[in-house]
Amino acid sequence: MNVIRLYNIKPKEKLGQVFLIDERVLKREVEYAELSSKDVVLEIGSGFGSLTKFLVEKAKKVYAIEKDSTLIEVLKSYIIAKNLEIIQGDALRITFPEFNKCVSNLPYVISSPITFKLLKHDFEKAILTYQKEFAERLIAKPGEKNYSRISVACHYYASVRILEILPPRVFYPKPKVASAIVEIVKKEKPFNVDEERYFALVRDLFSHKKKTVRKALLSSKRIELAKSLPSNILEKRVFKLDPEEIAEMLEYEN
Ligand code: SAM
Repeated sequence: MNVIRLYNIKPKEKLGQVFLIDERVLKREVEYAELSSKDVVLEIGSGFGSLTKFLVEKAKKVYAIEKDSTLIEVLKSYIIAKNLEIIQGDALRITFPEFNKCVSNLPYVISSPITFKLLKHDFEKAILTYQKEFAERLIAKPGEKNYSRISVACHYYASVRILEILPPRVFYPKPKVASAIVEIVKKEKPFNVDEERYFALVRDLFSHKKKTVRKALLSSKRIELAKSLPSNILEKRVFKLDPEEIAEMLEYEN
């Protein structure tokens, strides 16, 4: 909070700038990440460095990606550490450096695309804050209200847990909704698929999540697949399909 006042930082809503100002929470995030001097950490959206400050104390190396050049100037004068490399730019466009852990209070405006990008990457563990509702989508099971494309991707690539719910008061400015600290641990893939074909099908199906598989496939112009699948699958609602069933559907594609 002192830094915000000192540098007269005016949070930019468009960039999802809500800063985590409770040091106890920041320290717990670092503990959850179980950092050691061997770890190379990626931080997405480092802001002026409130979390970065604790990461550089524990890790071998920290890559901090930040889009806002004004905050980068503050970060540079606020934290002097040999093991910190600041990368200015859009985390969605930048090719990530090699890292084994990711610890970030993410900009919520890019929660979905940045999570897909991360999941495809090779790493051990990520500790991330999201809006609570988005975090619930990550762990949702087939048939549940929040079950979506990102739930399928999480099931495929990782084990995901919500570690804590955070009230708005730990942030500045206070967001309207609660947030959650989430742990993502990469795991062995549960089945073998051509990932490009699999996630293209998942995308097409979940664009029509409440429809039956038949209607979703027809709406996505996947006419041949709609003709070849057994009727018990075709009549199912998309949001009730489990990730393995979707993988099996690929076997009916020419
Ligand atoms: N790490 C700080 C903290 O813990 O308080 C700031 C977190 S704030 C929720 C998200 C940060 O991500 C902001 O500093 C914002 O400028 C930055 N940001 C937003 N979009 C970004 C993008 N596409 N690429 C990189 N950084 C981005």
